Amino acid sequence: MNIVILDGYTENPGDLSWEGFEKLGNLTVYDRTPGEKIIERIGKAEAVIVNKTPIDKKVFDACPTIKYVGVLATGYNVVDINAAKEKGIVVCNIPTYGTDAVGQFAIALLLEICHHTAHHSDAVHAGRWENNKDWCFWDYPLIELAGKTMGIIGFGRIGQTTGRIAKALGMEVIAYDEYQSDAGREIAKYVSLDKLFADSDVISLHCPLFPSTEGMINKENIAKMKDGVILINNSRGPLINEADLAEALNSGKVYAAGLDVVSTEPIKGNNPLLKAKNCIITPHISWAPKESRKRLMDIAVDNLAAFIEGKPINVVNK
Ligand code: NAD
Repeated sequence: MNIVILDGYTENPGDLSWEGFEKLGNLTVYDRTPGEKIIERIGKAEAVIVNKTPIDKKVFDACPTIKYVGVLATGYNVVDINAAKEKGIVVCNIPTYGTDAVGQFAIALLLEICHHTAHHSDAVHAGRWENNKDWCFWDYPLIELAGKTMGIIGFGRIGQTTGRIAKALGMEVIAYDEYQSDAGREIAKYVSLDKLFADSDVISLHCPLFPSTEGMINKENIAKMKDGVILINNSRGPLINEADLAEALNSGKVYAAGLDVVSTEPIKGNNPLLKAKNCIITPHISWAPKESRKRLMDIAVDNLAAFIEGKPINVVNK
């Protein structure tokens, strides 16, 4: 079997091995593939592996040897799964691989807002402590989380992991989810969305992006929040109306935001959040510790092996 990986760099920048795929066939790996090269590089491959490179009907029409598309991610919106289904092409994803890493990152963003450790370390290295009149200094209000309320929107795998860590920090945890579970009830009290907006000192977003959740953090809902609320988002950028959030950060209504995702990625230079007050932005790296990427790699290899054996798993276009 000819296997082509079109954009392997973010999954494996050199610290993992592709050998699992090599054992399954004749493997070609590209770090990244521009749109105009997709069809040429797939050529006569039977298995195509992608992370964010789009595979649409045009590609399926032009590359009739494709039998399998493996997505190196949970979200598979980059593949036209209906066009694949019409041609009998199996599309598989990685349903879960980085729950602990993503939960940990949500808390990392929050702790950075509470302590600005990177800023204070930079200040010390720049000589500010050495030359300071007092025995210590800080440039931002330092925030203790114990006793404060974290409201989690979307209380699934990552939401619950984040909730467990927040509880370990002494926070009260409340959650809003369309589906409630006993596992969720052990960590948090479920409340309505409006009550969550009203009662939370910190709001952390962990629901998927759907038409119904797009723009859910907007002017109207921000008005329902406590003054000085902290907002964390490492789910999906379009959950937030960025112009509305930027305005709320600049007015102080929202004290700070910690974001690992934005509406368009990579971020555009004119994104209003780049100039907003107290806004920490990281380049979509919650998923990316080596441990998570290794798990993702192993599952991606298992998916292709299962397909070759005629018993595909994690199929998203049955
Ligand atoms: P999950 O399916 O386990 O949990 C999602 C939860 O959201 C479910 O409990 C679901 O019932 C709930 N939900 C659905 N619609 C809702 C709504 N309208 N309002 C409130 N809750 C709703 O998924 P997960 O593994 O916890 O992942 C959550 C999200 O994290 C993913 O959708 C993805 O966008 C994001 N994610 C980000 C990264 C990253 O690197 N930044 C990595 C992995 C996942």
